[in-house]
Amino acid sequence: MTKYVYSFGNGSAEGKADMKNLLGGKGANLAEMNLIGVPVPPGFTITTEVCTVYNQEGKDAAVKLIKAEVEKAVSSVEALTNTKFGDKINPSLLSVRSGARVSMPGMMDTVLNLGLNDEAVLAIANKSGNARFAWDSYRRFVQMYGDVVLGMKPDNKEDIDPFEEIMEHLKEEKGITLDSDFTPEDLQILVKSFKEAVLRKTGKSFPDDPWEQLWGAVCAVFDSWMTPRAIYYRKLNSYPEDWGTAVTVQSMVFGNMGLNSATGVAFSRDAATGEDAFNGEYLINAQGEDVVAGTRTPQQITLEGSKRWAILAGVSEDQRASNYPSLEETMPTLYHQLNDVQQKLENHYTDMQDIEFTIQEGKLWMLQTRNGKRTGAAMVKIAVDMLAQGMIDEKTALNRIDANKLDELLHPIFDTEALKSTIVLAQGLPASPGAATGQIVFFADEAMKFEKSLLIRMETSPEDLEGMNIAQGILTARGGMTSHAAVVARGMGKCCVSGAGSIKIDYKARTMTMGEKSFMEGDWISLNGSTGEVYEGKVQTMNPGVGGDFGKVMEIADHFTRMTVRTNADTPNDARIAREFGAQGIGLCRTEHMFFEGERIKAMREMILSSDTVGREKALLKLLPYQRSDFEGIFEAMEGFGVTVRLLDPPLHEFVPHQQATQKELALEMGISLDMVKNKIADLEEFNPMLGHRGCRLGITYPEITAMQARAIIEAALNLKAKGIDARPEIMVPLVGTVAELRNQAKIIRDTIDKVFAERGDRIDYLVGTMIEIPRAALTADHIAAEADFFSFGTNDLTQMTLGYSRDDAGKFLPDYLAKGILKQDPFQVIDQNGVGQLIEMGVTKGRSVKPGLKVGICGEHGGEPSSIEFCDKLGLNYVSCSPFRVPIARIAAAQANLKHRK
Ligand code: PEP
Ligand code: MG
Repeated sequence: MTKYVYSFGNGSAEGKADMKNLLGGKGANLAEMNLIGVPVPPGFTITTEVCTVYNQEGKDAAVKLIKAEVEKAVSSVEALTNTKFGDKINPSLLSVRSGARVSMPGMMDTVLNLGLNDEAVLAIANKSGNARFAWDSYRRFVQMYGDVVLGMKPDNKEDIDPFEEIMEHLKEEKGITLDSDFTPEDLQILVKSFKEAVLRKTGKSFPDDPWEQLWGAVCAVFDSWMTPRAIYYRKLNSYPEDWGTAVTVQSMVFGNMGLNSATGVAFSRDAATGEDAFNGEYLINAQGEDVVAGTRTPQQITLEGSKRWAILAGVSEDQRASNYPSLEETMPTLYHQLNDVQQKLENHYTDMQDIEFTIQEGKLWMLQTRNGKRTGAAMVKIAVDMLAQGMIDEKTALNRIDANKLDELLHPIFDTEALKSTIVLAQGLPASPGAATGQIVFFADEAMKFEKSLLIRMETSPEDLEGMNIAQGILTARGGMTSHAAVVARGMGKCCVSGAGSIKIDYKARTMTMGEKSFMEGDWISLNGSTGEVYEGKVQTMNPGVGGDFGKVMEIADHFTRMTVRTNADTPNDARIAREFGAQGIGLCRTEHMFFEGERIKAMREMILSSDTVGREKALLKLLPYQRSDFEGIFEAMEGFGVTVRLLDPPLHEFVPHQQATQKELALEMGISLDMVKNKIADLEEFNPMLGHRGCRLGITYPEITAMQARAIIEAALNLKAKGIDARPEIMVPLVGTVAELRNQAKIIRDTIDKVFAERGDRIDYLVGTMIEIPRAALTADHIAAEADFFSFGTNDLTQMTLGYSRDDAGKFLPDYLAKGILKQDPFQVIDQNGVGQLIEMGVTKGRSVKPGLKVGICGEHGGEPSSIEFCDKLGLNYVSCSPFRVPIARIAAAQANLKHRK
């Protein structure tokens, strides 16, 4: 019989850490903590499989499936805690939490203090001798249960939460400002009013029966797997829907039992920078959600962290020590216990841990541990440090790098010179590094109002996820380093400054003030997520370097890689940037971009509009020196590495003017009539230019173009050779579909080059190869290989032609295809392995059946995408080529792929 419920407690557990798929990350780690002797309140986990049953067969089927097992698991919690669920004298109180196999912070729901009703609250008050605590817990329970299970959350962003409204009302009436000022009698009134509000809104009484409460909460957690925000988060991270969430039910421990109780969140290392420093936040006399909700200013756990925080928050040492002391100061013994636990957990999991704990009347309990989410910078530093500390080996360090996340480290940073003259408006906490400049918006669902927006909030909540993702950066007035905004932003690699207490926001007026200055929606400001500073206006940025830990990770990657990484670059500058990032050659130099600048376009147009070969050759002669010098620059920048230059590819109409004024100018220059220009341009128009007169078809119709380009490439290489520079040209023919096309072009190329060699009395090695980007080329790759020194898969065109989706028009329907699950991924970003992938595999196999050592690469956009790179490695490609800024990502992905496939 399948087991659906796994118990844990008092040092034993039915589950363990490697059962995340079944128990969710939280459930698996709670079990594991029991097994390694970390104090955890007893409880049980309902498996993710039940969530799938719930979603497919509905509530009744799911409850029926697990009812007996849950009842048994509740009795074992009762036995371990000496309480009874639903008892009037000694009731057990439970928490009900979600937990998917990967953490989705704040995306799903939690209910605390479950089991309370009008009788149990009296028993708890009696047992604890603390009526305030009992009623505060009850008030929180009704509020949380009302929000999560009974749908009391406001539907509209302008609406006030009904519970908050009731509390505000009572505070006004009593002349108090803080939740902690409520007396037990006030709290009693609140519970009553909350329940009345529930009845008013839902038409049903608040459930007093603890079992009804429990099933309601369990089902609400399953429901939260399908909320729009959870669905959005899964899409963002490509997590499949069928994973489902587990539900963990656990005996409550209370951080709100008075001044010897507390609750907190901590990281074994700094999640923003990766620094090896235990850090985190806590609140005395509080429950978990108080720390992350950003409604109270949390205090730091370590003394060192507290001192650093005070400097950033502008709090004096005296004030800090008296109003915001660290846990290390307020509860030194418990702090040391906590420190030991975090070290034990980090050593056990050999990764940075994100932990939640509660101190109940002087006893420490761990509520959660998981590998912490971190920024790209922290990811790199932690991997490199743990390697140096002997905690992990090189392979593990390499696999700790999420190649896509390296992107963050390659984004621009603020220009240090520009910062000298920048006005600092406010100081907050450096919650997630990065440089962000944008226009202010105050509501997450308005983030797309501007092309570049900055989301400014008092604090964020899970509903804001989509807007946070769209915005360039996030600034919050409240909340600490573990606030929702901070944690989510770090996960997204998005710049975030949190807890900038000096900013005042007026949501209604859509304005904010910082010191003397006021700002409106749409005003420009900048955020420095690395220092916590907020700047006025736009600030200049610059490119980051790739040294230090980043360099070390790259070095490790090079120990394990098999494929080389080239770059797609059309200019010496791009080639240089890519080389700094470790590119070993150019896999695609698109020559068409070279025809647009200044005088060149004129000569190009003259060539296109010429009516005969003589006219074209005359114009091409003008283009030759431009091309030659461009190639010299590129070959020099890539000295010692192969440079694949692709011959002219796009349809010619892309080069001619479409505006009358420019057409007139051109007619004048060429000494022909405007009508002749217009006729020629009309002549070039095609119904489907991507399938029209382009690629090698141009070189076949106009062999003189191919000849000019071959000459320019080889003359440039010879010129460099004369200067002692090692140029390695590789000439690539685009859009070949039959071997005869390649044979035709290769002959022109080789004949021209022979002529150049004869003229110069010198020679140089070169290659002639082809792109494989038409399905027929892949199908006949054995024939084509006979004429080619190398293949390069043009997966942009190959995808277009295999799926029959126009590259230029797919944007109209692809979003629907993705939303409706017809496609899982955009095939122009991620190789369609089942379809296009077959053609690539066939191309490689057939090509190498004729030429076993045939060099094969890829130069479509997919060459910089990790899962596609893994696929290329599997098929035995020699190299991938991608844009300069993706080169480091590709290097990591290539090494990881080789580790996976061969080591
Ligand atoms: C391709 O088709 O994949 C390719 C690299 O060429 P382009 O994008 O220039 O058509
Ligand atoms: Mg192409």
